[in-house]
Amino acid sequence: MRKKLTYFIYILIIVSIFSFLFWIGHFKGAQEFYNRIEQSSFDVRQSFISNYKKPNKDIVILSVDDATYEYIMDKYGQWPITRGVWSNIIENIEKANPKAIAFDLLFIKPNLKEVKGDLALIQSVKKHQNVYLPMTFDYYSADIRKPSVLDDKFKLKITNGDLKDNHYTTYTNSTAIMKGLMDATDNVGVVNVTRDNDGIMRALAPVFKYHSDYYPNLSLKVAMDYLNVNSIEIKNNKIILDKDHQMPIDSTNRVILNWYGSSHTYLHVPVWEVLKAIKENNQEFIKNNFENKIVYIGTTAISLYDIKSTPVDYNMAGVETHATFLNNILDNNFIKKTDYKYDFIVSLIIAIVVGYIVLKTNSVPKTFVALIAIIVAYWGANIFLMHQYNLWCSFVLPAIIGIMTFVLVYCEKYILKTKDYEQTYKLAVTDGLTQLFNHRYFQEQMSANISNFERYGNKFSLILIDIDFFKKFNDTYGHQSGDAVLIQVANILKKNSRTSDIVCRYGGEEMSIILTNTNKKEAIITANKICFAVRNNQFTLTNNKKVNVTISVGVATVGENGKTPQEMIEYSDKCLYKAKEQGRDQVVFEV
Ligand code: GH3
Ligand code: MG
Ligand code: MG
Repeated sequence: MRKKLTYFIYILIIVSIFSFLFWIGHFKGAQEFYNRIEQSSFDVRQSFISNYKKPNKDIVILSVDDATYEYIMDKYGQWPITRGVWSNIIENIEKANPKAIAFDLLFIKPNLKEVKGDLALIQSVKKHQNVYLPMTFDYYSADIRKPSVLDDKFKLKITNGDLKDNHYTTYTNSTAIMKGLMDATDNVGVVNVTRDNDGIMRALAPVFKYHSDYYPNLSLKVAMDYLNVNSIEIKNNKIILDKDHQMPIDSTNRVILNWYGSSHTYLHVPVWEVLKAIKENNQEFIKNNFENKIVYIGTTAISLYDIKSTPVDYNMAGVETHATFLNNILDNNFIKKTDYKYDFIVSLIIAIVVGYIVLKTNSVPKTFVALIAIIVAYWGANIFLMHQYNLWCSFVLPAIIGIMTFVLVYCEKYILKTKDYEQTYKLAVTDGLTQLFNHRYFQEQMSANISNFERYGNKFSLILIDIDFFKKFNDTYGHQSGDAVLIQVANILKKNSRTSDIVCRYGGEEMSIILTNTNKKEAIITANKICFAVRNNQFTLTNNKKVNVTISVGVATVGENGKTPQEMIEYSDKCLYKAKEQGRDQVVFEV
């Protein structure tokens, strides 16, 4: 019985856990909820480990910061500034031989009021083949904006593999750059960013599909040139640049960024300082800051609104996220999310360990501490795995399953314990042969009923039963047949009394019934009914022979015949004795 119950509960636990997994797997709301917590746990891990990561020292950000914005408004009275200023900056920085100058500033339309500035920028871009320009893709209808036709030279060469179309990486329209710049350079990359449902940017697309051709992310473009790679391969959910530079992509073709700390982890050089250095012909400043560097140019001023929320900083300049992306490619440092199978196996192991500890440990605080310790250890292991191997293992699923197992196995333990207690209690108050209550229980119930009578005046009666000539019966048919008769008499008693009546084996072949809320009249009726039932019953012996047996019965009622258990028992015993004297097989209720 206990074994069956244990199995049943185990099955229940397994079913509960699977239902939970099914719930997560099949209901959008549940999935969303689960993803949110998992993503938050990712953000916490990232915030934690990013403090220990070293950003690539070759990356510098030339930033249009708040001070520069002030400076520009003061000097030029407008933002964006004339493109001639950018040409001037390019020309001066180039003197320091930077590896690349990548703009995170879009140059879409020609500035007809300042054609000279546009022409200067075009000239500079044409002259320096290490300048990179951004473009963006979108889904605008062709009625709103005619999609740009992009020259073949901007396409990404893929030697092998393909990407499935999806919302994050496949686009139908674009905001390309102005014609003159497109003609001047091959170095154009896409700067679209994508956010998760909570608005936080965790994954970016390295490759975009536009009118069935592939185009590189701006950072990928810069990285490929930096690494001297001119084509990529897509294989086994990876984008491969070369042996040492491979990006794991998720089901949306995106890569999960690994962060190097909150804002300003890269060296920020404000544009106004560069402009000042140029004006003062401070070559030293330019050389110190930009020699052999990859220079990302973008806005960081709050008033220019290119701010992204990231796991490590809710207010990070867009240009820094692109720099981080580049950093990840160069240092081969992307995060790889473990798949569901792995998470499930880990959850299972944690469930087994937690379940085992709960089953084997009796102290609740100890098991609770153990559970917390397991979760904390797992959390630590996750941080370590992310720090050391860039792995994002699910934290939430194993933790929830661990807690579920803890609760469910505790429930199991409680149920089994209660069951054990009930079993022990039942054994303690039951007579082994007849399965009636035993003498001890009878005494307890007598006292309880007397108390009840004294306090609330609840009436009750006592019936005492003794089998007639039982010694002779035993001598004639054997002790075993005697036992069989005892059992059958007990059954007749149970059958002929109410559930509220307490039927006991008083001792030997004597039985008693406490009839709660029963007065003398009703008790006599029950006694006669029982006496009659026994008389008319055919008792089966061990050799299957049938015989008749009779009983003598004494009846006492509380108040009328006694006010203590002893008095009640004495009175009914006297009645019983009288019944024997008067010839047995009868009920006596008065002496
Ligand atoms: P009476 O009609 O006067 O009651 O005669 P009796 O022979 O039944 O006398 P008594 O009640 O004193 O008999 C008790 C006998 O009941 C003694 C014993 O042989 C028998 N007995 C008591 N307990 C058990 C039991 O557990 N199993 C069996 N088979 N017999 C029992
Ligand atoms: Mg007897
Ligand atoms: Mg007897």
